[in-house]
Amino acid sequence: MLSLIRFAVMLQKLYPFWYDGPRIREKQEQSFRALLAHAAQHSPFYRRRLAGLDLKTCSLSELPILTKSDMMANYDDLVTDRRLKKADLSAFVDDKRNLGKLYINTYGVSHTSGSQGQPALIVQDREALNLVFAVQFARGAKLKRRFLPHLGRLIKPARMAVLTIAPGFYPSAAAFAYMPKFISPGFKVLHLTVSEPMAKNIRKLEDFRPDYITGYASALEAFGREEAEGRMRLRKLGCLKQITNVAEPMPDEAAERLEDVFGVHVTDEYAMGECLVLSSGCFTGRGAHVNADLAILEVVDEQNRPVPPGIEGRKVLLTNLYNHVQPIIRYEVDDRITMSDVPCACGSPFPRIAKISGRSKDLLWIEESGIRREVPYYVFLAPLHHVLDLAEHQIVQTGPRSFVIRAVPLAGKHLSTDHIRRLVMEHVRSEGLENTIDISIEIVPDIPRGPSGKVSRVKNEYALMVH
Ligand SMILES: [Zn+2]
Repeated sequence: MLSLIRFAVMLQKLYPFWYDGPRIREKQEQSFRALLAHAAQHSPFYRRRLAGLDLKTCSLSELPILTKSDMMANYDDLVTDRRLKKADLSAFVDDKRNLGKLYINTYGVSHTSGSQGQPALIVQDREALNLVFAVQFARGAKLKRRFLPHLGRLIKPARMAVLTIAPGFYPSAAAFAYMPKFISPGFKVLHLTVSEPMAKNIRKLEDFRPDYITGYASALEAFGREEAEGRMRLRKLGCLKQITNVAEPMPDEAAERLEDVFGVHVTDEYAMGECLVLSSGCFTGRGAHVNADLAILEVVDEQNRPVPPGIEGRKVLLTNLYNHVQPIIRYEVDDRITMSDVPCACGSPFPRIAKISGRSKDLLWIEESGIRREVPYYVFLAPLHHVLDLAEHQIVQTGPRSFVIRAVPLAGKHLSTDHIRRLVMEHVRSEGLENTIDISIEIVPDIPRGPSGKVSRVKNEYALMVH
């Protein structure tokens, strides 16, 4: 009962109608100072790093940058509870039976997939685990009224279908395993894993009648094709209110196609295991709003200099303002993000991420006389939109000027390499690149998913070789 009341208080504080620009900045500043003070006092690692700084007045840009390898190499010193040891936590997550269990009765444990290098361990207290659900309720969907907006959930629970991968210690899956029990009367969750047969997933989804569907872009698009071709009838059931894309960048055209097919808004969420509540999707436009009272997101260039809104950065620096047991301050993440330079039409006072483009190391480029020139993904993507029997694709850079396009046909359909080549080359020619790039097309039955179940649509294997 006590924990339910605490949750209700947490939820109440998160409702967006309490916030405007100054209030967000004030909240962010308070939480930032509290985090610095806690880290300097209880983490030997941060005590060393923050020595000599006036933690009450220093600016964020004065603080050193934290890489994942720094964090993992100094893990036992970085956490603020001396009982936590990397070796013990690694052993804990190696045993699947521990999923959903609190380590030493206190902490939720997850690990990132390692798709960006080595996996990172993330430890959070109960309060931080609950915050994932509180933020989802308060900011994940449009509220109908201001007075006790979630009371009705006890009569009519929210129904969310999650299309990801098999349960495991990956942050998004672990978050559901740590769902507080008192939430379950008001919040029903159906997990569908992308590796299950499609027909079985469709049946489950139709029976469940979800209000909300959350999933990886590739999974959402796969279900969209089933609906478009009449093998799924979710729209007819009239239950669906919103679709949320997480974890993989989704091109605008794909989001628009999903909106056409399902008749509901498709929103994006940008988050990471190190901060699951980093943003909440915009209800009217593309992109997501940074929960700037809970985290600070800095968009920077290669040299960590700030990149202004409207311009795409090369990486981001994350500061998680609520995880005091594992302080994450100016943590470097290889994602290309563009912040919006205009106020959002939805009226949200939270800063909007206009575009999520993926990882910098998966940028495509050509090299001519030692000079690199970026080749935008759309050069390949735009012509592929005309390949109607295409189910999935992947563009892989394999040499200084060579690219492989892998194409998966829709079930029961065939693709022609000549047809794809002709469409792609027309586009490549219009970009003036016909003499500088070599393209080969491969028709494949499937594109292997990465360790966390995501499909990388753009991969630069050559960049990995030359680095
Ligand atoms: Zn918005």
